[in-house]
Amino acid sequence: MIKIVAMDMDGTITQHKQALDEEHKKMLDALSKRYKLLMVGAGQVMRIFNQMGGYPVDIIGNYGMQYGTYNERTKDIDIQRDLSVPVDKVSVEERVTMLREKYDYTNFSGDNVEFHPSGCITFPILGTKAKQEDKLAFDPDRAKRRKIYDDVVKTFSDYTVFIGGSSSFDMAPMPYNKYYALDLYCEENNLKHEDVVYIGDDYGLGGNDESVYKSDFSYITIDDYRDFSNVVKPILD
Ligand SMILES: [Mg+2]
Repeated sequence: MIKIVAMDMDGTITQHKQALDEEHKKMLDALSKRYKLLMVGAGQVMRIFNQMGGYPVDIIGNYGMQYGTYNERTKDIDIQRDLSVPVDKVSVEERVTMLREKYDYTNFSGDNVEFHPSGCITFPILGTKAKQEDKLAFDPDRAKRRKIYDDVVKTFSDYTVFIGGSSSFDMAPMPYNKYYALDLYCEENNLKHEDVVYIGDDYGLGGNDESVYKSDFSYITIDDYRDFSNVVKPILD
């Protein structure tokens, strides 16, 4: 009954920011013989396409703000949608500063906020110029960010807030998130939610797959990308 297998990339089919390996490429090939595959990413369409080594698949990027379809002839992606939403930078800066003062995160290096061309924003708790080792050591179990997550969500009610990277909050302007993106995809392609199964690793509180996990879409959880082949076996049998 499933028609579409929709997937997250980082942490689901690949190690974070690492190339797609041969084993998982073969699994995608096997899946694509029975289902249409669709990537649903937090990152940009072309980053996902390149990280997958040009794998032939349609890609939703930036939580639905971008969409690209694979072109068999050019072996490249045709960008179908690439939105950018205006940002009230002053208001965003003020709200981030308020949160920093409230939770004693006023020491940071570089910029207070990172603004992305799409209109997505990042609140880097340690600042945009923080050292990689400091970022990795800051909150490996996400406990610090989960503690203040509700308040960040409340403060940025015009965004969907994600606990992203190692020490930041990523935010996508409403209504964009992976659920919205998948729902829109279904609408545009005359599909029902029951036609889709989604696979993703980041389904916990503040995770970028949480909106799909908590929805009516069928969801296959994965906690380690190295388990991908096992995780998809039931839908290949
Ligand atoms: Mg992920």
